[in-house]
Formats: sequence, structure tokens, C-alpha cells
Amino acid sequence: MTFDHLVVGAGFSGAVLAERLARGAGRSVLVVDRRPHIGGNAYDAYDDHGVLVHRYGPHIFHTNSVDVHEYLSRFTEWRPYEHHVLARVDGMLVPIPINLDTINRLYGLDLDAAGMERFMEGVAEPRGTIRTSEDVVVSRMGRELYEKFFRGYTRKQWGMDPSELDAAVAARIPLRHDRDGRYFTDRFQAMPLHGYTRMFERMLAHPNIKVMLNTDWREIDGVIPYRDLVYTGPVDEFFDHRYGPLPYRSLDFRFETHDGDRVQAAAVINYPQEHDYTRVTEFKWLTGQQHHKTTVVYEYPKAGGDPYYPVPRPQNNELYKRYKALADALPNVHFVGRLATYKYYNMDQCVAQALATYERLIGTGRHSPVTHAPHLAAEHSPRAAIVGSAEQRLRVP
Ligand code: FAD
Ligand code: UDP
Repeated sequence: MTFDHLVVGAGFSGAVLAERLARGAGRSVLVVDRRPHIGGNAYDAYDDHGVLVHRYGPHIFHTNSVDVHEYLSRFTEWRPYEHHVLARVDGMLVPIPINLDTINRLYGLDLDAAGMERFMEGVAEPRGTIRTSEDVVVSRMGRELYEKFFRGYTRKQWGMDPSELDAAVAARIPLRHDRDGRYFTDRFQAMPLHGYTRMFERMLAHPNIKVMLNTDWREIDGVIPYRDLVYTGPVDEFFDHRYGPLPYRSLDFRFETHDGDRVQAAAVINYPQEHDYTRVTEFKWLTGQQHHKTTVVYEYPKAGGDPYYPVPRPQNNELYKRYKALADALPNVHFVGRLATYKYYNMDQCVAQALATYERLIGTGRHSPVTHAPHLAAEHSPRAAIVGSAEQRLRVP
């Protein structure tokens, strides 16, 4: 049998495409993942103590996209959840993103919102062009707060100074003049009621979908025939690092289980000033699980290892563009997701991108069969021209 589609990767990007192609378009789909589980980096599972944990660090779902929310709601119910993070700074635990309470506690003040605005105007150091993560933070809140909250954390997380990273990285964290202590302000914030893995199981449970785990796609390429390839792994690896490796940032995770209900004052504590780890997450805050034990995870950033984060900075974006040109020249291969499009995407953005890709694929109809080595084909693709309105409609602001 020839599969209509081979989908490489069973994370958000691959699972959404597999589900849509099978259930929405009646296509036959083979999903392969080299890991022993589905879910990609959003995979969750019960640990040896019976606590539900996220194996690849804390994943909190949030979106402003009605389409994405409605789509995922077909496969899960939700547990309403608003995420709060505290940062340990100068020996205190204070809210991050920085808000009115952060400043009042840190400096022993009693400002209101208008006072906070004046305070920030007093310390901010406006910069002509906002290019880097240092620019964005220093221009909003000045050097002192930048050094307390951002410089050390960013250097640990990315292995480089904020002045070497695109503004978009630190711009993920807003500055608030009010007392809103939520990490995200999206319209929809929730956790899948029975976890991410259960949601993925329901997405992939379709007679037209076969899933092969512990399998690198190259092991079956040329052995199991397919017509069309959806690739969600690292884009540079697909092309055998032809132009050199694209930098990705990785993490080591250290899990610790304790007796008792909770051990920390918030779901996540960030450590911008001390320790080798960046943050510690206590999962029961996220999952709402009732259990007599509790598990936390420490995140230690590192350069090598599993690729988790693209590193947004000009030279990497340039290198990615060279790989993208190769990718665009392959009409039967579709590059989707955080690693394959080298974008610092949240989960909802991956879902939106995958849904948009589906609409594009279905619009273009079936391709001629490709049984192996599609990366060696070199025709020009009309894809760039027909990215079209779906991607815009589904794009998360
Ligand atoms: P992935 O989940 O990486 O899936 C790609 C899959 O492809 C992997 O399972 C991999 O094994 C497989 N694969 C790769 N190469 C091959 C190959 N050659 N053969 C077979 N299989 C292959 N987003 C949020 O919205 N909220 C959060 O709170 C959040 N927290 C995060 C915390 C951490 C620590 C990290 C790392 C990410 C976080 N994210 C969060 C981002 C989120 O994980 C991603 O947006 C999303 O999971 C990416 O999905 P994906 O399918 O594109 O990629
Ligand atoms: N950041 C920081 N201090 C913090 C939180 C975030 O410097 O207390 C910076 C850091 O560079 C980080 C980026 O903001 O990588 C984005 O933070 P986010 O929490 O969104 O990172 P993620 O959850 O994707 O790891």
C-alpha cells in the first residue's frame, strides 16, 4: 500500500496535520516519530510516584485564536487555568511580568498605577531603534530592572547576552502598570483536562492513521511508499546540515518528588540572579491533580542535545532563509512547526500554522507519488504564492 502522506513527528504540528488529512480529507497517513511516544515536546505522563508531569518542561496552553481553541476542543475538555510566575530577586519572591506589586515590594513603595507609570518614565532609557532583547527591556524599564530580572536569566537560558538576541525574545514578557499578576493575558487560557497526551491520542485515533514510534523517518524512507511528506523535525537536519548546523537551544530536566501537597508558592519560580537552572515548576499547580506527593522540575539550559528552542538572532535567521529556499523548492515536502520553520512558536501558533498548511494542501490536490528521497527533488514550488489568507486568518496576534 502507498500512503497518501508520511508525517514526520507526532507533536502538535504533525498530529494536527495527520488528523486533518485523515479525518478531514479521507487521506491515508503514516505518522512516524523517533521518540517512544506521541505529543512531541508537549508530552505528559504519570511519573513513578503517580504525579502527572510534562517530560519536556511546563506547557501552559493559551491563545487568542478562536479557530485554534475550537479545533482542539474537539479532542479535549479543558481545565480553566491562569498561570502565575514569581521571580526570586534580591531575596524576595515577586511577580513576573513586572507589575505594580513587583515594584512596590521590591522598593518598599506604595505606588498606584499612575505612580507606577511615572516611576517607569523616570527609569526607562528610551532607545532610537529597538533591535535586541536588551533594547526592548532597557527602553521599557531601565538598566536596573533589566539587570535584576532579565540579564542573568537570558544569559543562562540562551548562553548569550540579551544584546545578541532579537527583541522578540524578551518582548514576550510585558511590563504592567496594574496589578495583573497573570503570565499570559490571552482570551483563552486552560489546560487539557486529562493532559496533553490524552488529547493527542484522541487526535490520532482514526482508521486512516497509522503511528510508528521509535522510528526515524529515514529508516522507512524508500521502504514504505508514500506520495507526500509533512516534515516537523529540524530543517537543517533534513538537508544533512548542508549549510552548517542551525543553532538550537536545549535543556536538561531534573525532576524531584516531595511528600506533601505543594512545595512552592507558585506554579513556576524564576531564578534570574542565582543557580545554574532558570526556573522550577511544580506540576500540580498546572494540572490541578490531587495527590499526597508533588513533583517539581528544574530546567538547566545547554547548547547540545535535543533541539527545543530556535535561537532568534540575525545571523541564524539568515542561515534559516538559506534552508527555507531549499525547502521551498520541494513541492511534495511541507515543512511545518517550531523546528522545521525555525520559529519560536507557542503551541497555539503551531496549531494555527498546521491548520493553514492543511487548507493549502487540500486546495492544491494530490501530488504525484514520491517513494523516497524527496529531499533530492529540485523543482520550483508554487507554495510561496499560495500561502494565502488562511494563514493570515489563523495567525495568532
Ligand atoms: P515538536 O513538539 O518538537 O515535535 C517534533 C517531533 O518530531 C518530535 O517528537 C521529534 O521526536 C520528531 N522528529 C524530529 N525529527 C525526526 C525524525 N528524523 N524522524 C522521526 N521523528 C522526528 N508552548 C506554549 O504554548 N506554552 C508553553 O507553556 C510552552 N512551554 C514550553 C516549554 C519548553 C521547555 C519548551 C521546550 C517548549 C514550550 N512550548 C510552549 C513550545 C511548544 O513545546 C511547541 O510550540 C510545540 O510543542 C512544538 O510542536 P512541534 O510539533 O512543532 O514540534
Ligand atoms: N525572561 C527573562 N526573565 C524572566 C522571564 C523571561 O529574562 O524572568 C526572558 C528570557 O530571555 C526568556 C524570554 O524572556 O527566554 C522568554 O520567556 P518565556 O517565559 O516566554 O520563555 P519560555 O517559556 O518560552 O522558555
